[in-house]
Amino acid sequence: MINNLIASSIPILPKWFIKFFSKPYVAGETIEEVIGHIKTINDSGFAATVDILGEHVSDVNTSFEITTEYCQLYDRINQLSLDCNLSIKPTHLGLELSLDTALKNFETVINKAKENSNFLRLDMENSLYTDNTFTIYDYCKKIYPNVGVVLQAYLKRSIKDAETLAKPGFNARICKGIYKENPDIAYQDQNEIRDNFLRLVKIMIQKQAYACYATHDQYLIDRIIEIIKDRKLNTNQFEFQVLYGVPMAGRLEELAKNGYKVRVYVPFGSEWYEYSLRRLKENPNIVGYILKNLFSKNTY
Ligand SMILES: Cc1cc2nc3c(=O)[nH]c(=O)nc-3n(C[C@H](O)[C@H](O)[C@H](O)COP(=O)(O)OP(=O)(O)OC[C@H]3O[C@@H](n4cnc5c(N)ncnc54)[C@H](O)[C@@H]3O)c2cc1C
Repeated sequence: MINNLIASSIPILPKWFIKFFSKPYVAGETIEEVIGHIKTINDSGFAATVDILGEHVSDVNTSFEITTEYCQLYDRINQLSLDCNLSIKPTHLGLELSLDTALKNFETVINKAKENSNFLRLDMENSLYTDNTFTIYDYCKKIYPNVGVVLQAYLKRSIKDAETLAKPGFNARICKGIYKENPDIAYQDQNEIRDNFLRLVKIMIQKQAYACYATHDQYLIDRIIEIIKDRKLNTNQFEFQVLYGVPMAGRLEELAKNGYKVRVYVPFGSEWYEYSLRRLKENPNIVGYILKNLFSKNTY
């Protein structure tokens, strides 16, 4: 309730105040700023995936501009030999305008990924876009296979999606899911979501697909490691992923020390304010996270 109260009063708070709280989670506003943060992350022993903040673009020209910016990022990453790929929200490249617009923009981006021998992740947004995101994924995969999707553990459909899609060469990020979804289609109970997450982990392993475990939940990380050890899984079959700025109390260093790959999701861009408001409105729990994190130290 307190989280809801704080979240609803955020739009009336001054922008500088919001910036103070969102700063640890946003890696600057320009390409050069984010590149500096990615270098630091790489120097700390972690890979990165970068995202330009923003979504739901409302005109085609903006979607073209964002597409161009993502292409510039691929070039810059390649020039500097950074260990970093891209994560893109389909509505940021025009999916809300039309599937055709999104396909056109993703075709440009996937060709750029190919030119730079890099990888493209399609982030998963709310359930309204799930089917079309898989359509874009199929389209990109035909052009260049280094592309992956996200399976959200809170969605009841995800087990079936994993069973249909997972095979050698399939690459999926597994996460709990951040959007507000209807109980008809999504688990609401945290334990059910964790159980479904672990079911997805097992399917990915059984089908020899590449899995990216995106969670800060230490309980889940412990269970995933137990499964990985039990199945004697090779370390090149999976990675752990976390969000930039979320304190992990030394866990990332420990994972890296044990030979596990860790990738940090790095959002940046001028739209940090609109993005923060939207996220907080959709998920007031984030207020609680931010307050808790204020008292923890971050790694990089
Ligand atoms: C790399 C990565 C990529 C993601 N991509 C997607 C995606 O494409 N689609 C999607 O729906 N969701 C995505 N998510 C969000 C994910 O679905 C969860 O909502 C989020 O990670 C919180 O779940 P958790 O597993 O960390 O566990 P929780 O139990 O929710 O969180 C554990 C702890 O982590 C910290 N924490 C978690 N989230 C945040 C946050 N946002 N800010 C500050 N602290 C936080 C808090 O300290 C919290 O107590 C992604 C998450 C990660 C790590």
